[in-house]
Amino acid sequence: MKRTIVEVLLALALIGAGVFGWLSWKQAQTAKGQVTELQAASEEAAKAVTASKAAIAAAEEQAAALEEQLGPLQNKVKELDAIKAAMSSGTTLADLEAAYKTQKSLSAERQVGLGALRMLTKGGDDPAALEAFRAALQLTDLGSRKNTMCAAQIALAAAGEKVTVMSECLPQAAHGAPDAHAKDDKAAKPDAHGKPDAHAKDDKAAKPDAHGKPDAHGKDDKHAKPGDKKGADAHAAPHWSYAGDMGPDRWGKEFPTCAKGKSQSPLDIVGPFVKARTSLSAEYKEGPLKILNNGHTIQVNVPPGSKLRVDAKPYDLLQFHFHRPSEEKIEGKPMSMVVHFVHKGADGKLVVLGVLLKEGNENPGIKTLWANMPLEEGPEVAPDGIKFNPGSLLPREFDFFSYEGSLTTPPCTEGVTFFILKTTVNVAAAQVTQFPFKINARPVQARNGRDITMN
Ligand SMILES: [Zn+2]
Repeated sequence: MKRTIVEVLLALALIGAGVFGWLSWKQAQTAKGQVTELQAASEEAAKAVTASKAAIAAAEEQAAALEEQLGPLQNKVKELDAIKAAMSSGTTLADLEAAYKTQKSLSAERQVGLGALRMLTKGGDDPAALEAFRAALQLTDLGSRKNTMCAAQIALAAAGEKVTVMSECLPQAAHGAPDAHAKDDKAAKPDAHGKPDAHAKDDKAAKPDAHGKPDAHGKDDKHAKPGDKKGADAHAAPHWSYAGDMGPDRWGKEFPTCAKGKSQSPLDIVGPFVKARTSLSAEYKEGPLKILNNGHTIQVNVPPGSKLRVDAKPYDLLQFHFHRPSEEKIEGKPMSMVVHFVHKGADGKLVVLGVLLKEGNENPGIKTLWANMPLEEGPEVAPDGIKFNPGSLLPREFDFFSYEGSLTTPPCTEGVTFFILKTTVNVAAAQVTQFPFKINARPVQARNGRDITMN
């Protein structure tokens, strides 16, 4: 019996030991797992901390950089606020008026500046602001201060005043000729030969203009900027002419394409010719006459609506102008004069139609133009009630010579298609003499293997 009890106790003890052992092992395993988990977690946490630290450091760097950038910006904002405050209180205006009071006659630019400041300070209804602009307009010499004129005209128009804003002041090409390449076109004017200044940028002054007007002076088309023209200087010192120091053989100095271009105009039209497969027709319409003397030629700016069709493609007629003698020669011989009709396609492509004028009977169309042309260089004039149809200067027959050329005035930009009509139009000897430019023709240029087509 005793032995049985001992055996049972022993067995119980063994079981107990086993259970205890198992339990201990189990606990140890669990703990180990937990430790591993904890370790992993802490590693993750450590990584996360490192990453966060890096992120924080980067953010701090960014913040520091932003602060650096913000500094000057904040200063600008402060300056702007100061300017605004000074304007709204009228102190700036008052200061400027006081400063100007000592001067009996203010320049047009100052009048406009004062007007602009008044308008900003007191609003567009302020009669003194309008008066300042008007005074500026009266003071301004039309020929040389176009920007000032434009500023005054646009300001008056913006204030709802009755004022005619000159077409060259309008933000778009007067003819609405789309400017495919326009970026910063302040200076981009399809000029006489519709200079593809179209490739300049920003379009503010974009306007079909004659022969490399002031904007183009002194720059080749890529660099022509209004900021460069310095007001009247461009007029006072033209950078090119048809004779002397600034004659055609010197144009290349300031306008490299004039010397280096390989497709320059005009050409001496001599065979052999290639058969043309192009059809050409003009749809010119009557409109109010707008005519100017730009210092290089007499030019007529044409209101929208007149077109030249080359095959099916329309080109808007922007302007036409005259050369004496004709720039083109036919088998070595020039005509008395030539009319160049400058067109621009929707893609900016320029096409010039040349109509040769031969001495003969009086030309009634030219009679109208000469009766209204300004004899001195100046802005466009629009004589009251005078209408003109450019089609009146065209011959009936439209057979032509054609070649790829350039503007015949600086900057001599290439990519201009020329059509020279074979049929000439009459002009009286006296009418040739009345033209205010004795010679305004560029000499013929090297053909450089170009085809001349003929239909
Ligand atoms: Zn021309």
